[in-house]
Amino acid sequence: MNTDRKTIGVVGAGIVGVCTALMLQRRGFKVTLIDPNPPGEGASFGNAGCFNGSSVVPMSMPGMITSVPKWLLDPMGPLSIRFSYLPTIMPWLIRFLLAGQRSKVKEQAKALRSLLKTTVPLISSLADEAGAGHLIRHEGHLYAYRTESGFAKDRSGWELRRLNGVRTQVLDAAALRDFDPNLSHAFTKGILIEESGHTTNPQGLVTLLFRKVIANGGEFVSARVIGFETEGQTLKSVTTSRGNIAVDGAVVAAGAHSKSLAVSLGDHVPLDTERGYHIIIKDPDVTPRIPTTDAGGKFIATPMETGLRVSGTVEFAGLAASPNWKRAHVLYTHARNLLPGLAPVVSEEHYTKWMGFRPSVPDSLPVIGRARCTPDVIYAFGHGHLGMTGAPMTATLVSELIAGEKTSIDITPFAPARFGDRSHRANGPPALELPSRQNLT
Ligand SMILES: Cc1cc2nc3c(=O)[nH]c(=O)nc-3n(C[C@H](O)[C@H](O)[C@H](O)COP(=O)(O)OP(=O)(O)OC[C@H]3O[C@@H](n4cnc5c(N)ncnc54)[C@H](O)[C@@H]3O)c2cc1C
Repeated sequence: MNTDRKTIGVVGAGIVGVCTALMLQRRGFKVTLIDPNPPGEGASFGNAGCFNGSSVVPMSMPGMITSVPKWLLDPMGPLSIRFSYLPTIMPWLIRFLLAGQRSKVKEQAKALRSLLKTTVPLISSLADEAGAGHLIRHEGHLYAYRTESGFAKDRSGWELRRLNGVRTQVLDAAALRDFDPNLSHAFTKGILIEESGHTTNPQGLVTLLFRKVIANGGEFVSARVIGFETEGQTLKSVTTSRGNIAVDGAVVAAGAHSKSLAVSLGDHVPLDTERGYHIIIKDPDVTPRIPTTDAGGKFIATPMETGLRVSGTVEFAGLAASPNWKRAHVLYTHARNLLPGLAPVVSEEHYTKWMGFRPSVPDSLPVIGRARCTPDVIYAFGHGHLGMTGAPMTATLVSELIAGEKTSIDITPFAPARFGDRSHRANGPPALELPSRQNLT
C-alpha cells in the first residue's frame, strides 16, 4: 500500500491510541488523534503501570465461581457489584462465567501470551523514540503469598503461565525477606517474574508518546467522535462533535467508551467496564522494591515517581455511577498489611485517590480487527486489566492491518466476530449513548 498521503484518524488518546499513532507513523501514515480530553486521562492515567507479559491467566478461571460469594460479602474484598447495575451486567457476567471453561481458558492464555510477551522490548523502543526511556523500568514483578494454601488456589494459573513459557523464580520465606525486607513477615512465599517491566508514571509516558506523535507531524483534534461516514464500504470521514474529519482509515481506541462506536459500525461487542481504584501515597515511609501483587488481596503496590501507587479492585457499576471512595480508602489498609512500615494513621491529605474504567470483555481478550460495515475501520479496544501491557503489540497489529501487511501474530482469537452476534447496519445505526465528559476522565 502506498501510505504517502493516507490519513488515519485514531479515536482515543490513551495508551492504545498513542502507541497506534506512533506505529502508523513508523509506516509512513499521517495521523490525526481525536479525543475530547487531554491524552492519557482515561484508564491509562491511573493503572498500576505494569508491563506484565506473563499475565496470561484470564480473569474467568475454572472454579472461580466458588470464591465469588466470599469476595462479594467482604466490603474490603476485591469485587463488588452495584445492586442497581446487576440487571445490566448480568448477560456480561454469564458470558464471563462461560468463558472460564478449562478448554477455553487454555486458548485464551495462548492468545494472550502471543499478544503480551514482547511488551517490554516494544514499549521500551517506543519510549526511547519519544524520549521517555527514563520512565520504563525492567526490574521484574513479585507475587506475594501468605500461605501455601493461598498459593495452591492459584496453582492452575501458574501452570497456565508455565505452559506458555513464563519463567518464574520461587522464593521461600527467608528468600522473600532477603529480596524485600519491607514486606510483612506474614508473607511466606514469593514468585518472582524477571521478564516484567513497569512505568514509573503511566500518564507521563502517554504524554511523552503523544508529544512524539505531534513532533512527527501528527495532529490532535479535541473533539468527541460520534460516528463514521461511509460510501458503500469505503470510509469517508469521522464525524465528531466539532464537525467531520476526512480520513482514509480509522482506529477505534476509545477504551471502555468504544462500545457505541462499534455498534454504529454493525458490531455488538459485549464490552463493559470493570471499574478500578487507586491511591497514591505521596511520601511513603517505605515502598516495595519492585511492583508487588498481594495475591490474596488482589491489588498491586507500585513504586512510582509520584509516590507509592496502590491499585486494584473490580467494581461493576457502569460508566455513569459516581465512585464509591470507600473502595479506594480500603486500599490504604491493604497497603499497610503488605508494608507494615507505612504510617499507621494517615490523613486523606497524604494520598490522592482515583477511579477509572477498565475496558473489559468477558473472555479477557481485546477486540482487534476490522469493522463489519467497512474494512477501513479497525478496532483496538477491550484490553481490560492489561491495556498497558497489550498496547504496543496491538498498535503493531493495527498498523500492519492498515498497511495491508501480514500480521506479526495470529489475530483470529481477537476477532470482533467471535461473539457471534454482529448485526447489519441495514436496520439503521442505533442511537449512540454519548458519555459525558465526567465519565471520560
Ligand atoms: C486500577 C487499574 C490498574 C491497572 N493496572 C494495569 C497494569 O498494571 N498493567 C496493564 O497492562 N493494565 C492495567 N490496567 C488496565 C489499563 O489501564 C487499561 O486497559 C488501559 O489503560 C486501556 O487503555 P485504552 O487506551 O484502551 O483506554 P483509555 O486509557 O481509557 O483511553 C481511551 C481514550 O478514549 C477517549 N474517548 C472515549 N470516547 C471517545 C470518543 N467518543 N471520541 C474520542 N475519544 C474518546 C477517552 O477520553 C480516553 O482518552 C489497570 C486498570 C485499572 C483501572
